[in-house]
Amino acid sequence: MGKITLWLALAGLVWLGWTLWRLGQRRADSRRAEASSQHKASHESPHHTPSAGADPPAPEPMLRCAHCGLYLPAADTVVDKAGQSYCGTAHRDAAERAAGTTGRRG
Ligand SMILES: [Zn+2]
Repeated sequence: MGKITLWLALAGLVWLGWTLWRLGQRRADSRRAEASSQHKASHESPHHTPSAGADPPAPEPMLRCAHCGLYLPAADTVVDKAGQSYCGTAHRDAAERAAGTTGRRG
């Protein structure tokens, strides 16, 4: 009985090795194809400038002033309690005043 288990284990090992070998062959094939295509691309564009450590600044979202409609970077906006963005405190105050006095005489 012990011998059968040993043979089964051996068969499993052989199957595993064969599968891994096939996977390796396939990977080598695709790598060879990739390398040839990369070689072609590098030959077509030889002017490759490496830019290490020089990341381009992330594009800042532009927000619109809810009062005058001016577009400005999100960092330069003034946000009111309602979450609206304005180009400055003056326009924020003006909009708040306008909203607060709607339908009221003040
Ligand atoms: Zn404004």
